[in-house]
Amino acid sequence: MKKSFPVIVVLITLSVVGILVIQMSWISNALKLKHEELQREVDNTLKQTREMIWSSFMYKSKTFVPNEESRQFYLQNHFIVDGSFTKEEVNDIIKNQLSQNNIKQPFEFCINNIYHFSVLQSDGFQISDLHTAKQLELSPEDALKSHETLYLLVKEDKNSIIREMLWMIIASIFFTTIIILAFVVTVRTLFNQKKLSEIKSDFINNMTHELKTPLATISLAIDALTNEKVIHDTDKIRIYSSMIKEENKRMNKQVEKILQAARLEKEEIKLSVQKLNVHEVINKVADNILLQIEEKKGTLTLKLTATNPEIEADEVHFSNIIFNLLDNAMKYSKDAPHIEVQTLNTGNGMLSIKIKDDGIGMDKETQSRIFEKFYRAHTGNIHNVKGFGLGLSYVKAIVDAHNGKIKVESVLGKGSTFTVIMPTQAKG
Ligand code: ADP
Repeated sequence: MKKSFPVIVVLITLSVVGILVIQMSWISNALKLKHEELQREVDNTLKQTREMIWSSFMYKSKTFVPNEESRQFYLQNHFIVDGSFTKEEVNDIIKNQLSQNNIKQPFEFCINNIYHFSVLQSDGFQISDLHTAKQLELSPEDALKSHETLYLLVKEDKNSIIREMLWMIIASIFFTTIIILAFVVTVRTLFNQKKLSEIKSDFINNMTHELKTPLATISLAIDALTNEKVIHDTDKIRIYSSMIKEENKRMNKQVEKILQAARLEKEEIKLSVQKLNVHEVINKVADNILLQIEEKKGTLTLKLTATNPEIEADEVHFSNIIFNLLDNAMKYSKDAPHIEVQTLNTGNGMLSIKIKDDGIGMDKETQSRIFEKFYRAHTGNIHNVKGFGLGLSYVKAIVDAHNGKIKVESVLGKGSTFTVIMPTQAKG
């Protein structure tokens, strides 16, 4: 997975770039073909125009030179257009032929004689157009002095060509976008899978560690209990038994945490909501945790100043929230933790519970991710407290289920403040 991931990304990127290049070259080829097709049609138009001018000239010549023999001489030595056609007549002939060839673009023309003088020309024809216009001899090859050349310039409208190809361009942009989107989704899925497998192995490591320590202690305590000297010493038996009990309790707590997370996964949060006095809950949880804080030579200050501490909540889950936040405040401290819990009624019928510590704090990136399941700030240089990264995701899920909000403010190295905001019960 680790090695194939970059290979897959490179291969797909190459394919997408390849498809883009091929599509661009297709479109540019199609534009070229369209251009060539137009030039061919212009050539045809020139030839057809010559035919039309010729037959019209023959017809006209009969009225000037009725005699057949003299007429041959006349045809060979007389200009075809000069003197016999008006600008409008030639314009109409060209226009007709172009429309027969399905060309609707505007055009300019010019007819020059053998001395390069312009015999007839459309209003918009420029001298410089002589270089770009298509040309064709109007006179027969055996004509002597009567050469006349027709120049025809069809203004190629790039926009109209693009308009004609619009569907093709839109379709290719559409499908390319789909390919790129599918690519992005695939890469993201692969990335998530990779992250997930890292999280999984982290979780297994943490879990093994969390369960191994109590198991080792229990095993040692049992060994001691079977020791001849201890078997007759009731005091020691009591110490070792309570040790086993404590460790057993610790393991139970860990297993419960994992089960809690599994239940959350299945969205099985069943709340048994009841009227709850937040101050009472905080006092109860504080009593439970105070001993551990004091063991670490820390302090816990309660500033329960809310005048209305009543909320509607599930007692067990809500106590767990307060416990998890206090437990974290204690766990993620440098040495002696100084924790402060404050409650306050805010103007809009809400109750805010702030849990402030002076612990290790978090950077912005960590703050934005702590509520994700299994997320833990990188251990090592930041902290080496073991855990599953499940506590805060549970806290958030429960707060959300109570229509509350949770916020975190933290400064790395200085400490963190978690604020839970819950809707209050109107006093009654
Ligand atoms: P766990 O504590 O088991 O790792 P949590 O979900 O409770 O899981 O916390 C997630 C992460 O958030 C922790 O690993 C830690 O990096 C960070 N964190 C939580 N609370 C605090 C706190 N009070 N101070 C500093 N970091 C904290």
